[in-house]
Amino acid sequence: MSTGRSHGPRRFLALIALPLALAVSTPGLASPTTDNAVAPDRSSTGEQNGVGLMRIVVANKSGIDRLNQLGVDLAEYTKPVDNGIEVHAILSPEESQALRDKGFDVQDAISDQSDYAQNMAERAAAIRAATATTAGTDTLTVLRAEWFSSLDNQLFLNIEVKSSAGTDSTTVLTASWDGGPGTEIGSGGTATMSRFTDAGQYMYHRFSNPVPITAAPARATITSNKGGSATVDVAKWLGSPRKNPGKHPYVSDFVDHYMDPTEVTARFTGLAAEFPQLTELIDLPYKTNGYRRQAQAQFGTAAASTLYVTSTAYGSEGGNDDITMSLVNPGTANAPLSVSVSGKAVTVRLATDGSGATSSTAAQVVAAVNGNAGAAKMLTASTYRGNAGTGVVAAAAATQLTDNLKAPASVSREPFQMKVLRIGKHRDGSKVGVFLYCQEHAREWVTPLVCVESAERLLRNYANDPNTRKIVDGLDIFILPVVNPDGAHYSMYDFNMQRRNMTNYCPAANADPGRRNAWGVDINRNFSVGSVFDGYVGASATSCTSDTFAGPNELSEPEARNEVWLVDTFPNIKLSMNTHSYGGYFMWPPGAYKAEGREVLPRVDQGTEAYFWTSSDYILSRVQEYRGTAIWPGRTGPVTDVLYSAAGNSADEHWYNRGIIGWDFEVGADVYNPETGRFSAVGFQPPFAEGHEEAMEFANGNIAILEVARAYATDKIQPKTSLKIVKQEAGATAFTFSTSEPANVYYTLDGSRPTYGSAKLALAGMREGVQNITVNSDTTVNWFSIDIAGNVESNYKPDGEGSNYNKQRVGVQ
Ligand SMILES: [Zn+2]
Repeated sequence: MSTGRSHGPRRFLALIALPLALAVSTPGLASPTTDNAVAPDRSSTGEQNGVGLMRIVVANKSGIDRLNQLGVDLAEYTKPVDNGIEVHAILSPEESQALRDKGFDVQDAISDQSDYAQNMAERAAAIRAATATTAGTDTLTVLRAEWFSSLDNQLFLNIEVKSSAGTDSTTVLTASWDGGPGTEIGSGGTATMSRFTDAGQYMYHRFSNPVPITAAPARATITSNKGGSATVDVAKWLGSPRKNPGKHPYVSDFVDHYMDPTEVTARFTGLAAEFPQLTELIDLPYKTNGYRRQAQAQFGTAAASTLYVTSTAYGSEGGNDDITMSLVNPGTANAPLSVSVSGKAVTVRLATDGSGATSSTAAQVVAAVNGNAGAAKMLTASTYRGNAGTGVVAAAAATQLTDNLKAPASVSREPFQMKVLRIGKHRDGSKVGVFLYCQEHAREWVTPLVCVESAERLLRNYANDPNTRKIVDGLDIFILPVVNPDGAHYSMYDFNMQRRNMTNYCPAANADPGRRNAWGVDINRNFSVGSVFDGYVGASATSCTSDTFAGPNELSEPEARNEVWLVDTFPNIKLSMNTHSYGGYFMWPPGAYKAEGREVLPRVDQGTEAYFWTSSDYILSRVQEYRGTAIWPGRTGPVTDVLYSAAGNSADEHWYNRGIIGWDFEVGADVYNPETGRFSAVGFQPPFAEGHEEAMEFANGNIAILEVARAYATDKIQPKTSLKIVKQEAGATAFTFSTSEPANVYYTLDGSRPTYGSAKLALAGMREGVQNITVNSDTTVNWFSIDIAGNVESNYKPDGEGSNYNKQRVGVQ
């Protein structure tokens, strides 16, 4: 279908003015079945309610903009298809129908709630297995311990050990061996072992490759971080060595189930304690609002006669504690409406008419409850969704208020302390800083695992892997594994498609319990550059129930302010990676445009764009190494070019306000099925087996980013350029420059000395090569180049007096 054809401009404007969530539930407007009844939307019972991840095909990009403007909850995913662009949206059955009614082509579901149940069962099994075996000290069973020599007389050591706590992915074994009979254990070497799993089952710990050694050891001791230890004799093995033994065993694979923010933060706290020389834990200054809600109860079935109450205190702070409200038929004629409070029980005696029938309307009950000082201390009453409340309310038994939160008690209901793990040998600001952060969006369950795996690899390979040591010694790495902890807890335990944080800015008309899965602020729309408040597209400033609600103002949310605090406090941070899911993308600024004339935030200059492409080639090759996943060229580039406008996102904040390179990953590339010959989307919460693979391959990507950062930090090589004549015809010569590496070129055509104020070589157009410069008479071109690390060609000083810039005469026929 064509979104442009089916609606005239007047209807289009009317739709913009009405947020989708409102349209769905406003009686009689878009919801075909509800009329005056209390609307069944995505959350009316507090359950998951059939919400699914749905496929929609729009004719073109303006169709995406329109969905955005309607407040539709879109996944970060677009895909060109034969008849337009495929996008994915989180929709209840009612919301799907409302979009179809507006002419949108809403197709099938990519995932639904049965996937959620399966994921939670898998997660519970993994945690059970881990806790069953980690009580007390683990027992180590040494399966093999042997040395052997290869054809060229290199000696190798092979050890395989089973830990009774091995099903726990945090169990780490370390082997030390002697340098021959009679020498000390450890004198031959020490190495961390890899946890070997097969089809999700723990097998044993081993070296991923046999370890090269210099002398045949006699004995080895294996110790576990869970307390176990074993010492065995090392035998000589006569078999042939494995092919291509690696120089150094590199350990990886430290995640074995989807983790909630409480677990992730505990893991980081443990890492900081275990590696005090290499890390410190930074408590970010702004605590979140917390995984908590006010307690509520709702009375009634038809909109006009429905009311709801909300506790003053959070459920965890007394709102849940036995506050009840009842609506009582007094059983006598002509009774007045009255409210009484006894302890925590609020009793509303409904008015009756001459025949003894109750006659209080919802609006009257609301006014009476709110007018009673004792009741008002504990709760506030409201009519339903802004209804005038003229319907007569029905009597109801005492109903206890509840915050409805389902996470176990181990998840704190207090404001959450977000923690950054800072990793580096020299954490004094002298090294280039890199900020890796994950899970701004709650439902993107794979993303915190990418951050956890990256941190584990850096710390556990430091002792033995020279490349890791170079990274940790040469950089200052800041890892924030969960930017949105409250929303992430909510996504795991209450409503798996939660994207935003849990802070409710909705007025009473949208604050009833049925709206509870539609509250919160989109952290990645709450930043201060290119925001919806500045007129950019891809966020909502007005609809508190839109899944891209930007908050009441820029940086209103502690989660966003914490990010800003970190990059302001550590000005050595020069690169950042914001990991999201899904679709398999590598993106950079600009990330937003204005609706008016599609005015994009300033594009990065030619030299920076070239650097990003070169970097992406390196980083994405490393992602591909893991299992062959190729991130497509069509999903690499500026956010606005390859995805859509995302007003007020954090990468733009870092780049435009501070010059910090702001990259974004979308993990979870489409998976190719050779049987059908088709790619299929993985969704936000694939079965863990797939989520695990995504975490591993994008942890590869994070390590590659750190290698790129280190190259940037140590780059002392000056770029070299040459002038190339592209085209010569009568009266006009076109030329350009070629550079030895990504670099910006500043040039003059009037014989003057080139400076940073001179003309800068630009790209010919979006995703195109460099421009050609045309002159119409013989011209002396003066120029110099500078790379991203600030190295200037020939060590020329653009602000100085020297003349060691490049000069060339371009002739015109
Ligand atoms: Zn996201």
